[in-house]
Amino acid sequence: MPIYEYYCEACKGLSSFLLLRTTEPVEPYCKGCGSKEVKRMLSRVTVLKSEEKRMESMLDPSKFSDLDENDPRSVERLMKRMGRELGGELGEGLEKSMEEALDKQQPTASEDV
Ligand SMILES: [Zn+2]
Repeated sequence: MPIYEYYCEACKGLSSFLLLRTTEPVEPYCKGCGSKEVKRMLSRVTVLKSEEKRMESMLDPSKFSDLDENDPRSVERLMKRMGRELGGELGEGLEKSMEEALDKQQPTASEDV
């Protein structure tokens, strides 16, 4: 749930607004002096909390339940999922290095037959 913080220049106060529905526009005002001359701030608390939560959910043991360490495809699936959750460049780089590692492994599978 997003929390917006507004800074009032008149009284140097911060007002937090909890956004229940993102479709509804907020009409920010200073809760200290009632002024509408407020500036939107990035709420650091909210950002930090959601970051923590993301890490927590990523390390959730239930997500590892279908992991078979001896099966490279299973490991790959997990790595891709983690990469997606981390997002951005790290995820892409991780996927690429996983694919490269798997390409090198593949020929050995057919040799034993
Ligand atoms: Zn104020």
